[in-house]
Amino acid sequence: MKLAIATLLVGSAAAFSPAATVSRNSALSMSTATEEKTYAKLPASVTSGVVTGQALVDLLDAAKDQGYAIPGVNIVGTNSINACMEAAAKYGGPIMVTFSKGGGQFIAGKSLPNDADQASIAGTIAGAKHVHEVAKLYGVPVVLHTDHCQKAWLPWIDGLLAASEEHFAKEGVPLFSSHMLDLSEEPLEENISICKSYLEKFAKVGILLEFELGVTGGEEDGVDNTDVDSSRLYTQPEEVFYSYEQLSQVENGAFTCAASFGNVHGVYAPGNVDLQPIILYNSQKYIQEKIGSDSDKPMKFVFHGGSGSSVEDIQYAIGAGVVKMNIDTDTQWAFWDGVRAYEAKYHDYLQGQIGNPEGDDKPNKKYYDPRMSLRAGEESMAA
Ligand SMILES: [Zn+2]
Repeated sequence: MKLAIATLLVGSAAAFSPAATVSRNSALSMSTATEEKTYAKLPASVTSGVVTGQALVDLLDAAKDQGYAIPGVNIVGTNSINACMEAAAKYGGPIMVTFSKGGGQFIAGKSLPNDADQASIAGTIAGAKHVHEVAKLYGVPVVLHTDHCQKAWLPWIDGLLAASEEHFAKEGVPLFSSHMLDLSEEPLEENISICKSYLEKFAKVGILLEFELGVTGGEEDGVDNTDVDSSRLYTQPEEVFYSYEQLSQVENGAFTCAASFGNVHGVYAPGNVDLQPIILYNSQKYIQEKIGSDSDKPMKFVFHGGSGSSVEDIQYAIGAGVVKMNIDTDTQWAFWDGVRAYEAKYHDYLQGQIGNPEGDDKPNKKYYDPRMSLRAGEESMAA
């Protein structure tokens, strides 16, 4: 994560001070807090709190122009949501808080039935409302995003869209900033046709669409693509152009593209992932020539499955117009590693309610209070 933040901000220029409300003098427990901070220069439309609509488009365009990508971090509850915002405040915002369907379900509670995605819908909305309430206190811009949604899961997005439409009617902004639709299992024409029909609804309330071409390999959130035909891991420039052309027809439609270039979810031993980010460059060039654009990066790309990638590959992909990099596997590990270290440090104080190395009658309540181990996870994840 430390490495990723430094990498993501490559090429960013002038100072962005997240907000005066965040004290930089407080005793930060993380060694990384002393590292040099580099902040991206944000567009005037982007302020602290949830970023939606034109402000989000401005933010992503600025990232593309300045050559950095925003971390999109998967979360499973308020602990990981808050760790994201803490990281953004301490180490430089903005950040994208990303709900998977399973993560949303977990927020509602794993004991609940979810046969019609009702728990996933309610939990994702609850998590989004949490961010709406507290994001401003962190003083950072937060993008509220949802992750992979395959065709069978569209009722989940329908539920979230209804909540955004209701929110828009009252507040003039949607509840969510962006949704990913991953219809890469379907033929290209069907994939883009479904995306287009959703983008028409999204555009009316200022939600951005992220769509997927090709397939991200590996396994995540219950979707196993470990055995997929390897040719499908590499998107063709013609497919990117077709999608660009189709989705550009939607009035006020805003979109980003998750074009696979050998990406794989999860962490693997070196040599097992063959990234070809040149696919992104070739796609940009192809679109530019087709539409006669002045820009050499007409498409905004996002990077899935980046865990374990080399710094060079990540920087190269950012240079090709990647504006967001997903992070899940590494922050899952970071959260656990914080809990693990806490347990290791206080092991002898965590074996019973009473009795520790200081005496057989000493109470251990302050050590097993769940906030202690969870906070250790949050701090580790934020760092
Ligand atoms: Zn992904």
